[in-house]
Amino acid sequence: MLPRIKRLSLHEAQKIAAGEVVERPASVIKELLENALDAGATTIELSIHDAGKTKIRIIDNGCGMVPEDARLCTQQYTTSKITSVDQLPQLTTFGFRGEALASIAAVSRCTITTKDAHSREGIRIRCVAGEQHEEVVAASQGTDIVIEELFYNVPARRKFLKKAETEWRQIMTLLHAFCLNHPEVHFKITHDDALVLSCPATTKIQRIAQLWDSALADSMLPLVRAHTTKNIAIQGFVSHHQVSTFDRSSIFLFVNNRWIKNQSLSRALLKGYMNVLPPGRYPRAALFIEVDPETVDINIHPRKEEVLLLHAHTVEQLIHDAVRDALEKHLSKQLNQPVSITRPYETTQPTIVQDRLAHAPFLAEESFGSYHHRATVAPSADVVQRFDGDTRTHMPPTNVQQLPVVEVQALPQEFTIVGCYKKTYILVEKDDGLCMIDQHAAHERILYEQFTTRFNALEPNTLLFPVTVTITADELAIVAPHSDLLARHGIIAEPFGSNQLIVTATPVCLVQAPIGEIIRTFVGWILEDRLLGRQELQAITTKKMHAMMACKAAVKAGDQLSMEHMAQLLRDLHTTPNNFTCPHGRPTCWLVHHSEIEKKFKRRS
Ligand code: ADP
Ligand code: MG
Repeated sequence: MLPRIKRLSLHEAQKIAAGEVVERPASVIKELLENALDAGATTIELSIHDAGKTKIRIIDNGCGMVPEDARLCTQQYTTSKITSVDQLPQLTTFGFRGEALASIAAVSRCTITTKDAHSREGIRIRCVAGEQHEEVVAASQGTDIVIEELFYNVPARRKFLKKAETEWRQIMTLLHAFCLNHPEVHFKITHDDALVLSCPATTKIQRIAQLWDSALADSMLPLVRAHTTKNIAIQGFVSHHQVSTFDRSSIFLFVNNRWIKNQSLSRALLKGYMNVLPPGRYPRAALFIEVDPETVDINIHPRKEEVLLLHAHTVEQLIHDAVRDALEKHLSKQLNQPVSITRPYETTQPTIVQDRLAHAPFLAEESFGSYHHRATVAPSADVVQRFDGDTRTHMPPTNVQQLPVVEVQALPQEFTIVGCYKKTYILVEKDDGLCMIDQHAAHERILYEQFTTRFNALEPNTLLFPVTVTITADELAIVAPHSDLLARHGIIAEPFGSNQLIVTATPVCLVQAPIGEIIRTFVGWILEDRLLGRQELQAITTKKMHAMMACKAAVKAGDQLSMEHMAQLLRDLHTTPNNFTCPHGRPTCWLVHHSEIEKKFKRRS
């Protein structure tokens, strides 16, 4: 028999090895970005065509390369970053294997133009099919790399590329990760010549605003945690319980400045949200984890996407605790507004509350005064013991259980407001006892019924400053055909660019409401129910929309209401159908019988 083993040509071998590092356009972009950052770039311009399949160009203002290095950098195992594996633990750069450029050049047409600080002229090197051609060119300091026709010579891999949207989604996630991790770098990114991200250098939190939106950035909760003996530090931002997305793609984890994917760390993060986010909803998060370099192995994955942590369990516990604490702090702040020293009913009202009430259609000013009530100013509720319960039990439960309501009554025509407890519960003296009314739940029900019965309650009102809401391009494609559903609720939103909606009008009752959040929730409903028929979809979203708008437009627990406002609220509640519960099923009012009170004070047995 003849010998059958043949040595592959170097170029063929490189094409095979390339598969490990270069799986898809996103992995090429990742390596190129890492190199630019390793080169100390402060500005990185990236232009991508056809989701990276036809062309990727990256221009950085980093240190550049001298001609000798430029000739070498596309050869296998050439790196300026380490000379021995022993140096891995001390590594501060992203690259270290010296195989990325070699791999990319092996499976594409690659052109590198570069100039270092000391050379007068730059050099341009074209690598095609394992051969290099070079010329001297004028260039500014830095490196400009063009990758064309990725996998043109590896048809098997080219065939496995997903459709452009899928590849692009991966690229966008990657770009978000890099932008989040390097707020000090100016990124400018175009796709098919349209600007998709423009992020001048800024702070971490402002970067979130640049990437997602500013309302969202304002609502992110900061978190800091450390384990001193094990040298672990965690900091970052997480979204609170009212903000969520439909997949995990907005959860970003970084270990020692490296973006990583790690199931158990993201599970720990999600555990911190337990019972706070509805099933199937995910938070947005950017968590930066610092550990001792000796306790992390970054070499376990060909694309360095995963890491192995020595103290994985401790890190998970820290993440879980940090997230839970941040959420609890946020919620208790919402529930425990700072206690004011003045008697609440004698002060002038905060303008926000007045606005919210004034804009609520049912609480129009002219209806004030027409109602007969005896308003007695009560002693300040501040003397009442502070509410100090475990905040966890006060988080809005995802499926509200009906409380054991002893007795619930609709409100009488005549009543005396004796005060307000914790700027949340209106206290009303009745012949048969003391009635407590939850101002938010009550207002929510009133608005809900208004929205469902009065067609003009939701007239669009043009906004002075249109609001931009960023979603994904895929979401936009699904939602855009349903913008008439939003218009039915007085919200005029038009697609803008590839991944944004511009809200130009909202109903008056929503002027104070977080419109971005409302739109995003709406987008979620459409995604969930997109397979339903048009009519069914419309019926379902209308109901949900009314409940959400009622919730957002209603006065909140902690909003300080004037006596007139309270009286009007009670009067409206009285004439509203279904007034015993809010649209989510929580009771709106609760009567404590006079006899019960007397028994407590031993006036009666
Ligand atoms: P690694 O990053 O692991 O060293 P690469 O194949 O990604 O390997 O890059 C090889 C070498 O080319 C790098 O070590 C670096 O010296 C040089 N290089 C690559 N990209 C750039 C760039 N944008 N600016 C300056 N030098 C670069
Ligand atoms: Mg590299």
